[in-house]
Amino acid sequence: MTGAAWDVVVVGAGSAGLPAALAVAERGMRVLVLEELTAPGQGQHKAAIGGVRATHSDPAKILLCRDSLRTFASWKEAYGDDIGWKMGGYCFPVYTDAIERTLRGILPAQKAAGLEIDWVGPEEIARLVPGIAREGLRGGTFSPGDGQVSPLLFANSCERAAKRRGVEFRYGEAVVGFETAGGRVSAVRTSTGTYATGHVVLAAGAHARPVGRMLGLDVPVVPDAHEGGITAPVEQFLGPLVVDLRPGPEGKTANFYFGQNAEGQIIFCYTPKPLFVGEDRESTSEFLPILARRMVSLIPRLRHLLVRRVWRGLYPMTPDGVIIVDRVREVEGVILAVGMCGQGFMLGPGVGRLVGALLAGEPPTISAEAFSSISFYRSFGAAKTEALK
Ligand SMILES: Cc1cc2nc3c(=O)[nH]c(=O)nc-3n(C[C@H](O)[C@H](O)[C@H](O)COP(=O)(O)OP(=O)(O)OC[C@H]3O[C@@H](n4cnc5c(N)ncnc54)[C@H](O)[C@@H]3O)c2cc1C
Repeated sequence: MTGAAWDVVVVGAGSAGLPAALAVAERGMRVLVLEELTAPGQGQHKAAIGGVRATHSDPAKILLCRDSLRTFASWKEAYGDDIGWKMGGYCFPVYTDAIERTLRGILPAQKAAGLEIDWVGPEEIARLVPGIAREGLRGGTFSPGDGQVSPLLFANSCERAAKRRGVEFRYGEAVVGFETAGGRVSAVRTSTGTYATGHVVLAAGAHARPVGRMLGLDVPVVPDAHEGGITAPVEQFLGPLVVDLRPGPEGKTANFYFGQNAEGQIIFCYTPKPLFVGEDRESTSEFLPILARRMVSLIPRLRHLLVRRVWRGLYPMTPDGVIIVDRVREVEGVILAVGMCGQGFMLGPGVGRLVGALLAGEPPTISAEAFSSISFYRSFGAAKTEALK
């Protein structure tokens, strides 16, 4: 590490930046976190509904999320705080032949990767998701080791844990530029000060591209907007987080998903079709009516729920839908932890540990093949040009 005041400056106290700051501090480095908002997790982190699964098809996501799952599951023991961890699994109920073929098609690879996931029949799905519509239900997949966490509780607990390890947080300070010397980053400039450092972790979420430009980098991250909502709590009745992959009959939505968190609230969102590219975070008038109709048609008993609030947040998307975690070649000392897409909360702790290992000069925490698949220098192909238009 350098003789600067801070060994590492993390830009952004969100899903990637918070666990990265903690992981780096746990390796004995002096860490400063700069965040333009006023508290931890106030960017896209708090928009997440808190679903956490390792059961992906992409190898890097599997490995990073498996690491995250271990961290979330053992958090209370390790750091003392309840973060609303609920190991209820993930369930994908299936009503169509095409979705059955897709899900059954990826099962062998998921099992070969050691994931605990299987196809279960309609009776089991009806047991897991009480009250689910039975007509046309073919079965589905269930992965019992996945779960849910409260993003708000996690952000605050992660910040406290990092502070106990000496991490300093400066809120309300937007990063406006960087200084370099001899091809290496030497300082970070904010609206109010300049901080000397030899290492920067760029974890600026939806702003990864404009902040990357300050370093002369074209980071291919473009946000799109997604809405979510939460109900008043009811008695626990639903174990897994449920994902319905069917497109909505109204023609404006792709999949939708929801779960019952540890406090009993049903927390939900859908994927709009087409996507809303950009930073508009105003709630739309159509979200709740569409979502409510979809949820009640899947589980009629949900019609009694009282919705408490809705919100709209951003997915910081890459052209291929896979994150970027890498050392930057153009400016020595800079690490990117960006492009967390729609799974940044669940990827966070795994990404944080990977960043910690890279900064400590250790081998990556995931296989070499998986690490190269999340490289900044991979080929994004034509999708990159299209996404950045
Ligand atoms: C409705 C919805 C539901 C979701 N559900 C889930 C889910 O169930 N599970 C899941 O894993 N993911 C989910 N996500 C996705 C998840 O929220 C994001 O992928 C994740 O929060 C992105 O993490 P990040 O660290 O990249 O960005 P953020 O958490 O936004 O962190 C980036 C931080 O950088 C700060 N920043 C930016 N520019 C600057 C600057 N110039 N100077 C200083 N600070 C700066 C920002 O203020 C922000 O706090 C959901 C998203 C939405 C919108």
